Amino acid sequence: MIDLLSTDNCPVGFRCEICGDATDGMVAVTAVTLLGVLCVTACPRCGDSDMAPSVSIGTAVRLVAQHCGHLGIDLDQMADALAELHGGGEG
Ligand SMILES: [Zn+2]
Ligand SMILES: [Zn+2]
Repeated sequence: MIDLLSTDNCPVGFRCEICGDATDGMVAVTAVTLLGVLCVTACPRCGDSDMAPSVSIGTAVRLVAQHCGHLGIDLDQMADALAELHGGGEG
């Protein structure tokens, strides 16, 4: 099964996309949205909390597509894996 929440191949920026801070120790974090799983750069503080980045629909679509690229999958596979994530449980 595809691990949509993996950030192994996600690039890390220099500025937190949640609070805007630029500090050391940035990490890539994933957020599950209705559109799919996306990843953003977060500072350690935001990375520890479960805060979802507030992005517009258009931005979210782009971020989800980018994260698909990080995972090496396409949007169809993302949708399938997402259904499993939400449906959960069977087997
Ligand atoms: Zn932050
Ligand atoms: Zn990513």
